[in-house]
Amino acid sequence: MNQPLLEVKQLKKYFPIKKKLFSKEQQYVKAVDGVSFHIDKGETFGLVGESGCGKSTTGRMLMRLMEPTEGQIFFQGQETTHLREDEIRPLRKQFQMVFQDPYASLNPRMKVKDIVGEPLIVHEMAQHKRLERIHELLEIVGLDPYHAERFPHEFSGGQRQRIGIARALAVNPQLIIADEPVSALDVSIQSQILNLLKDLQKKFGLTYLFIAHDLSVVEHISDRVGVMYLGRMVELAGRDALYAEPMHPYTKALISAVPIPDPRVKRERILLKGDIPSPANPPSGCTFHTRCPYATDICKQTAPVFREVKEQHFVACHLVETE
Ligand code: SF4
Repeated sequence: MNQPLLEVKQLKKYFPIKKKLFSKEQQYVKAVDGVSFHIDKGETFGLVGESGCGKSTTGRMLMRLMEPTEGQIFFQGQETTHLREDEIRPLRKQFQMVFQDPYASLNPRMKVKDIVGEPLIVHEMAQHKRLERIHELLEIVGLDPYHAERFPHEFSGGQRQRIGIARALAVNPQLIIADEPVSALDVSIQSQILNLLKDLQKKFGLTYLFIAHDLSVVEHISDRVGVMYLGRMVELAGRDALYAEPMHPYTKALISAVPIPDPRVKRERILLKGDIPSPANPPSGCTFHTRCPYATDICKQTAPVFREVKEQHFVACHLVETE
């Protein structure tokens, strides 16, 4: 079997909460609570779930923008979990991030050539080669070289996201972690950016971790999909298997809300009761039991094991039988 480009084992991120007066025990917000998955070279792995499920925190730990509390991260077989800044620097070229909000993620006082060129300076590209590379990158993402002299406010949302993508591509990364890259954009622009990401993947053999709350967006771009709920992975499968035959009640509910483009086909919407509980005080047993229409007593007492129930289809639910 080929070595995955990225592998994550039992990754956790706990944030300590301010102790209550007279309380001896330290409490934690368990933002990510034991997540494992891998991404093969050249594939797109979609990570989905409602806001607050821990998917963005997972992405930030992979980028080493945040230290994991526990667990391991491997990049091309090399463990990167606790590398020092000087040890991780040469590897940083290999993984880059595209952020959600192209308005907030670009410095409004910097010209596009400085935004796109910044990673080239960090990674010490000679000055005389830089402008040529910046122009090349702008063309790759569908902008014009003369845009290099402009400021971010002179562009539309979609164009700004193209600038963010050009910046991420600057140092020829292998892995791009895209955190809700199209959520802030109009639907018509979303598909342009998704198609651009797909074209770039083909052209440069890129690997993506695509983080989003919108399952229709994830379906459009992913090869495999992981579904997170309250810091844990509850289902993981190939895209077609997950959308055609979701097994976890949470995934079923999320998919039931995805609109079907054919007006003749109707899907029964599964409405979940209540809000997502606080990760500072997660429910006992299966953390989804407070909202699950099928919850039984065992669900309140025992957390289900995340296991392979069908070839390459993993689920954490007491009700799902292994085939
Ligand atoms: Fe629902 Fe129980 Fe399955 Fe959790 S383990 S998803 S509560 S049926």
